[in-house]
Amino acid sequence: MQYLPIFAQLQQRPVLLVGAGLVALRKANTLLSAGARLTVVSTEFHADFLHWQQQGKVQLIQAEFAAEQLNGQFLVVAATDKDAVNQAVFQAAEARQMLVNTVDDQPLCSFIFPAIVDRSPLLVAISSGGAAPVLARRIREKLESLLPQYLGPLSQLVGNFRSQVKQKLDGFAARRQFWEKVFNSAVVRDVQAGRLEAAQHQLEQLLHSEQPEQGEVWLVGAGPGDPELLTLKALQCMQQADVVVYDYLVSEPILQLVRRDAELICVGKKAGAHSVSQEDTNNLLVSLALSGKKVCRLKGGDPFIFGRGAEEIEVLLPHKIAFQVVPGITAAAGCAAYAGIALTHRDYAQTVQFVTGHCRKDGTEPDWNSLAKANQTLAIYMGLMKADHIQQQLLQAGRAAQTPVAIIENGTRPEQRVFTGQLAELAELIEQHQVQSPALLIIGEVVALQSQLAWFGDHTSQSAPAALLNQL
Ligand code: SAH
Repeated sequence: MQYLPIFAQLQQRPVLLVGAGLVALRKANTLLSAGARLTVVSTEFHADFLHWQQQGKVQLIQAEFAAEQLNGQFLVVAATDKDAVNQAVFQAAEARQMLVNTVDDQPLCSFIFPAIVDRSPLLVAISSGGAAPVLARRIREKLESLLPQYLGPLSQLVGNFRSQVKQKLDGFAARRQFWEKVFNSAVVRDVQAGRLEAAQHQLEQLLHSEQPEQGEVWLVGAGPGDPELLTLKALQCMQQADVVVYDYLVSEPILQLVRRDAELICVGKKAGAHSVSQEDTNNLLVSLALSGKKVCRLKGGDPFIFGRGAEEIEVLLPHKIAFQVVPGITAAAGCAAYAGIALTHRDYAQTVQFVTGHCRKDGTEPDWNSLAKANQTLAIYMGLMKADHIQQQLLQAGRAAQTPVAIIENGTRPEQRVFTGQLAELAELIEQHQVQSPALLIIGEVVALQSQLAWFGDHTSQSAPAALLNQL
């Protein structure tokens, strides 16, 4: 971090502004709106300064800058159009270890003014540390349109209640839960509609109602790994939950986006290594929700596609625990897109089937004859271990040996690897490249277009089946 963002309390604090032209005027406006007691030094003054002086808003000193003028000041801003004067202000301030800002001259600054989105008392400050001011300004514009004006009065209202809430509710967690409830309640809608008295009344009611907090489970799909593939709703759940229960498919950068003080519980490790049983996971969700917690059950991909999501919801029903389901981008969609494979294509595949490579415990086999039909795409989840078997069964059932296949390891993540070849060499490719979980297999004519459509990562493909389609 090149700069520490801090918010300075300037109310009634003496601040010196050197310079009194248009640039200085802009800074003076900002400083006055923060309540600073402003003294302006210059040989000439813009008319607005003279006007402000008459209104008693600023004190003017008509003189050249001199170091003694810094005596008793809290901080200083140099805003003249003379480099030598700005330099002198900077040096004098540095000698006194005083915070100094020189407008548009970063080397002569010990503090910088950020771009501000003002919803007082809520403030957002943005800075690129001088590296990309235009970018910082664009971000500010985006936030200006994103953050509604009512956030100002809302934070004001909330601020007025803070000490009451502190008295009534013990502990940080209880208070946080209360405020989450407030921000999801009619209080916000009342403030938005300008009904401040109604909002205040609502807030009082919420604070004094004796009903215990109800737990809830949000079954959330986290997508295949790239955090930017999260839905806005998934992110909201991750940031509102008290507890996040996740499994191994959820990538590290996604876990980084969970609210910092939420409890994180991992219930699944890679195949073979230790993992919590499904039954224990179900029980955990129930007991957390019954204890009043907002639980985000975060799963890789989509929770209802080979995710046992329905089972986890079913156990909540007898306990009448409220739940929501947030879909995610499933591995087939995410991996295919990031590997440059269109799962369907008018000319090559009219059907796509999502298949699990994990056979049922009773040994029931999938309908290989149906899976072996040409002009359809198979997206095979959990197929690494059984690739040999899958290959043999499909060939036996009549799928062409030259059918293009792709193996996508760590799809959508920076370490994504994609291998392509023919069905007859599927297991061999996996062995040869030591493919690791998670990996998705895609089998079908559409894979032949991969070498043209690949766009993500350095290793777009490790062996493209050139002109394979012509052989089919
Ligand atoms: N609910 C998940 C799937 C869970 S099954 C979803 O909708 O995506 C786990 C399997 O998904 C893995 O064995 C692998 O085949 C596939 N998978 C999940 N994430 C993947 C990724 N980033 N890259 C490749 N395959 C992935």
